[in-house]
Amino acid sequence: MSPFFRNAGYTALCRTPATNRQTLIRKRSIFVVPRGSRVAWSILERLGRFDGSSNLPYPIMMKDTACRIFSVLFNQYIREDTNLNFLEFDNPFQILIMTILSAQTTDRTVNSVKDRLFDVYPEPALMAEADQSDIEDIIRPTGFYRTKSRNIRGASEMLVRDFGGVVPDSMEELIKLPGVGRKTANIVLNHAYGIDAGIAVDTHVKRVSYRLGMTDNTDPDKIEKDLTALFPKVVWGKINFLLISHGRAVCDAKKPACDKCCIKEYCRYYRDNNSPDKE
Ligand code: SF4
Repeated sequence: MSPFFRNAGYTALCRTPATNRQTLIRKRSIFVVPRGSRVAWSILERLGRFDGSSNLPYPIMMKDTACRIFSVLFNQYIREDTNLNFLEFDNPFQILIMTILSAQTTDRTVNSVKDRLFDVYPEPALMAEADQSDIEDIIRPTGFYRTKSRNIRGASEMLVRDFGGVVPDSMEELIKLPGVGRKTANIVLNHAYGIDAGIAVDTHVKRVSYRLGMTDNTDPDKIEKDLTALFPKVVWGKINFLLISHGRAVCDAKKPACDKCCIKEYCRYYRDNNSPDKE
């Protein structure tokens, strides 16, 4: 049992994977509630706020476990010369446009159209005046090229009109641009300006964080809230890279290689699929 619960006077805390229920035993009281639910949290709160250190909305994963996972993944995937950017950009405008293009495709595909795109349209003013069909021709390999060309042209127009041709460095301003949500804005802020405003949640981050038990949400904005509550701000900028790296190397969408996983001892998915109930 985690010291977090032990300090709060709990004598047992267990989970039944088959029913996804959580049993909390404290003195003579036994509570059986849906795991990680609002009701679980409100019961826990009424009984006392433990050590008062958690700002998690629900008791999903403890912060100390999240920090251990961070440390294992950091050692696994980050070396002194590791480039934390999957996209090969040269300036804030390029990372903005390339991140918009990266939806539903691979970073390698986006990198492959980079030179052609920015040789012709190196700055927002030129992209804003481009013929949409010319942009479409260049970015076609990235898929959804009509929507994407509309968005990158629209974003360029807005940059010229409202921001003096400069990519803004605040979340509020970035998400006003067409095709830019919190994920793209977080990537631009972190990689172009070194600002940790949040954690970019893409498909790998969503899958790996859910399997690990860092979140019970499926909406990216809610997942981001769960993750920012779990990790100290100083490491936010690396979480996206680490979870993507782990998702690509081990925690495959269809067939996760759990037996080879360096963080399986902390993983909810692994526990659920290797518990005695499953045998
Ligand atoms: S144990 Fe399996 S599901 Fe959990 S993080 Fe590792 S590979 Fe993914």
